[in-house]
This record gives sequence, structure tokens and C-alpha cells, in this order.
Amino acid sequence: PYTGPSAEEVISLRKQFLSPSLFLHFKKPVMVVEGKMQYLYDERGRRYLDAFAGIVTVSVGHCHPAVTEAINRQNQLLQHTTTIYLNNQIAEYAKELADRMPGNLKVVYFVNSGSEANDMAIMMARLYTGNWDIICLRNAYHGMSIGTMGTCGQHTWKQPMPQGFGYHHALNPDPYRGAFGDDGPRYAADVADLISAATPGQVAGFVAETIQGVGGAVPLATGYLPEVYKMIRGAGGVCIADEVQTGFGRTGSHYWGFQRQGVIPDIVTMAKGIGNGLPLAAVVTTPEIAASMASRLHFNTYGGNPVCSAGGRAVLQVVDTERRQQHCAEVGAHLVERLTALAAKHDIIGDVRGAGLMLGVELVKDRKTKEPAKAETAAVMESMKDMGVLMGKGGLHGNVFRIKPPMCFSRQDADFLVEVMDLAISRL
Ligand code: PMP
Repeated sequence: PYTGPSAEEVISLRKQFLSPSLFLHFKKPVMVVEGKMQYLYDERGRRYLDAFAGIVTVSVGHCHPAVTEAINRQNQLLQHTTTIYLNNQIAEYAKELADRMPGNLKVVYFVNSGSEANDMAIMMARLYTGNWDIICLRNAYHGMSIGTMGTCGQHTWKQPMPQGFGYHHALNPDPYRGAFGDDGPRYAADVADLISAATPGQVAGFVAETIQGVGGAVPLATGYLPEVYKMIRGAGGVCIADEVQTGFGRTGSHYWGFQRQGVIPDIVTMAKGIGNGLPLAAVVTTPEIAASMASRLHFNTYGGNPVCSAGGRAVLQVVDTERRQQHCAEVGAHLVERLTALAAKHDIIGDVRGAGLMLGVELVKDRKTKEPAKAETAAVMESMKDMGVLMGKGGLHGNVFRIKPPMCFSRQDADFLVEVMDLAISRL
């Protein structure tokens, strides 16, 4: 049993010694001290069904035995070395990851976080094209580093300081809230407009999540990416796909989120689920783009270290052998069906959306005006927690449930989640 400090003591330590800008998910906070696959346990041993997976980070399951075993084995052998020496793990891992990429995406850079990966992607785009401007999306989230803050499209994540220059935010192709519904090409026209109005006509690139995560599980309108990719390339730029939340089969229909729109990016960034919780991230690009960075040295102390590489390799294995992509498709379809039925019962549910196990449920006060039901979302989330289900929340207005559980989430778990949500909404 757990013998560490109590939740109250941990709160007091956080207040004294950690950042004052930290936030907690629940009014009555949950402390988690153990995890097993799709379940989390608090300090008293109470079990919770985890529908948020450490913000989509735990891909194949908390402490998945195969990943834990691979990490432990490497831990006993060699915990750390850098790329100045040869080691098999990083090299074999790079090949295994490249093998899972389409097109000519064959060169892998390992880093430690999604922010770092996106920073690097933007640097590559600028070096390769010789241009500076980056087109990104309103409502986007790409990280908290000084480089990526400028790409974010939500004021909540922007420190009040200069955001860098050369970042231009296009209309968000949001099928639910956007002006053009699900008409991707109409939103894409705004990108052409932006290029001609805000840049010298030449751009370094375009970056987008393939389903917006932090922004509230927002899929990009149908047909958006093919049009935009054409325009960006026509303006001398490269296309970056942020697969930090959507990769590794989570969307069910495809291994990578960008494949849902039938495009192949020039640079792909990944983090979170790539390491099932290990501090691991990657940038994958073409040999041509990689060559543009080779005029100087490149080094990253921890990127692709043996322990993280061993864990990342195990994740790739598990996704394949346990057929996680197909599982996400099946359980996700079932969950969407049940949530859609729930929406027929409760007017407060304005939208059910997403793909696979990357889903959003948006709560509104009025289906016509779409006024966000922010307080209600927080209340339902708290009440679901009290009944043993940990939900994610997001969107600029804090009124979207983000359902992105570990990929071992079962049909029974999905049923339980929906029943608990039904009860929580009924009690509002
Ligand atoms: N891109 C996306 C789509 C993300 O969701 C996040 C994290 N929420 C990041 C980038 C940044 O990742 P990190 O927190 O590891 O820097």
C-alpha cells in the first residue's frame, strides 16, 4: 500500500515549491499513485477508469507489461549514452519508426518533448526553404517553448510577451463552429488569402494537428489538407503534420492522422503516445530536408537514449501485435454510437466527433447559438470522477470532453463511461 505523503501534504508541497501557474483538473483533486492498463489508483487504492491517458500520453496502457519489461531490461544493461558512441537501440528504433512512415519520410531525429519536436520542424522548414513565415491554425496547440508558443492559436497558452514573428493563424476548419461547416476547400481559400496578405508570397511552411487535441478534439474539415498542402508547396513551403496526439493508430482508420485526408507531409512530429509516458519525441522528414540541417552539428543529450528507445520500440511492437489500430476503430465506433444516442436524450450535448479513440463531446447551453456550457462541463466532469471515471476536458471555452483513453480501453469500459455520463448529466 501507498505510504507517502497525503494528498493535502502534496498540495502544500506543490504550493510552496512548484510553479504558481500549475492547474488542477478537479475541484476536489485526485491523487494517482499507481496505474495498470486503462485504470488508475489513488492513494487509498480506489480505482478509476482513465479516459484521458495522461493527456493522450499513455498509448498502449499504464505500465503495459511488454513496455515495462523492455525498459527494465535496458535499465539493467545501460541507462544512458549519447550519439557520440554507437548503440544499437537508437539505430534500430529509427529504422523501425521509418518503416512505418509513408513516402520518403525516412530520416528520424529523436528529442524529448512535443514542443522540442515542433521547434525543430519549424527550424527545418525555415532552413530548407530559405523562407521565414509559418502558417498555423487558430485553436491550435503545438507546445509551450518560446518557439512553439507563437504557433498556438489560443490566448490561454500565450504568455504576455512577443510571440516571435512570422506566425500567421488561418481560419480554423472546424466543422462544428467554423463559418463554412465541413467544407474544407472553402477554409483553404483563407490560407491563400493569408499568404498573399501577410507574407512576401513565399512561406517556410504550414503546421497543423490532424485532429486538434487541446483545442477540443476538432477534426479538420473534409478536403482541407490536400488543398492547403498544394497552396503551401506552391508558395515554396513545406507541410508539417503534428501527430503528437493522433499517431500510432489512435484514430482507428489509419496509423497516422494525416492519412485520413490522403496527404503525405514533408515533416511529421510525434510525442506523447510514442513512448507510452516516457519522455520521448521525434521528428521524421525526408533526406532532402534533413540535408538542409547538416551544414552544422546537431546534438541532443537525451534524445533517443537507450531506455527511451527500448520503450519506444516496445510500443511499436505492441501496437502491431495487439492490433491496437483496429481495436481503436472498433471501440471508437461503438463509443460514438452510444454517445450519439446519449445526445438524442440530452440537449446539452451539441456535438459528438472525432475518430477512433480520439473523441470529443461538446456541451452547449443552446444548440442554435452554441453558447458553451462551461460550468456544466466542469460539473459533469467532477461528478463522473466521483463515480470513478476520469474524463479529459479542453477547447478554448473549456466545454469539450476529450475522450482519449489508453488504447486498451474496452467496449465494456465505453459502456460504463456512457452510463456514468448519462447519470452525471441527468443530475445537473
Ligand atoms: N503538439 C500537440 C498536438 C500537443 O497536444 C502537445 C502537448 N499537449 C504538444 C505538441 C507539446 O508537447 P509537450 O508537452 O511534450 O512539449
